[in-house]
Amino acid sequence: MSRVSYSKISTWNECPFKYRLQYIEKLEVKDSTDPASPLYIGTAVHTGIEKHSIEAAIESYKSNFTELTEEHEFEIEKLKIMTQKAIEQIPECETYEYKLDVQDEYVGYIDGLKKNEDDTYTIMDFKASNNVSGYKKSQQVHIYTYYFERLTGNKVRDSYYVFIPKPTIKLNESLSNKKEILEELSNMNVHFEKVEYDPNQVNYFFARKTLMEKAKDFPKRPNRFCRWCPYYLFCTSNGVDRSELKESSLHKLENNL
Ligand code: SF4
Repeated sequence: MSRVSYSKISTWNECPFKYRLQYIEKLEVKDSTDPASPLYIGTAVHTGIEKHSIEAAIESYKSNFTELTEEHEFEIEKLKIMTQKAIEQIPECETYEYKLDVQDEYVGYIDGLKKNEDDTYTIMDFKASNNVSGYKKSQQVHIYTYYFERLTGNKVRDSYYVFIPKPTIKLNESLSNKKEILEELSNMNVHFEKVEYDPNQVNYFFARKTLMEKAKDFPKRPNRFCRWCPYYLFCTSNGVDRSELKESSLHKLENNL
């Protein structure tokens, strides 16, 4: 048995070939240069919530870039609003990034853990996203609940996906709709989606884990999110286009030939 994270199993569920590239071949992709990178924005918002600081969120975001353009500055304006709303509307937690660790089995981090007045706990998983229906199908907080109760003996009373809003309007090429986007964002609020614990979701997670650990084939599974896959060019060119990969991974591939 190996120690797995939720994202590892979720990647294998999404596309076994992507799982192979990421977790078996360990091919690393270059850092994104996109000012609106969901990874950079998500990390910055998490940092802001944890430190109760808009400045900390901005510093986290800026640390990904060597120079800032007008587009970056606009993302910072959005980030200020998102983080402000998150700080104001999400209850303060005793612990952030609570580590769940079971040797040879599982590792995960609860974004926000809050002790209730009746000595039970509330689990919160923060998402800088508007994709409520997509995340509602996720096993993630069910797994957190299962492991938290198993490891600590404490009871989880409530668990939530907490959605920090993102604008739905995209920035146009001339950057002329910035005001409209900021206005939309200012009118949005943090959304709390309560999740009722379902042990069947945990059973499904373990069933998938067992299948993943036995897997010998890792076929491509094209899907509607392929265009955002970090290995999109590598995959669709059958390994010919390696422009997404870091130098160290190029060497790794050459040595394996
Ligand atoms: S581009 Fe699509 S099919 Fe190819 S590895 Fe990524 S997710 Fe899988």
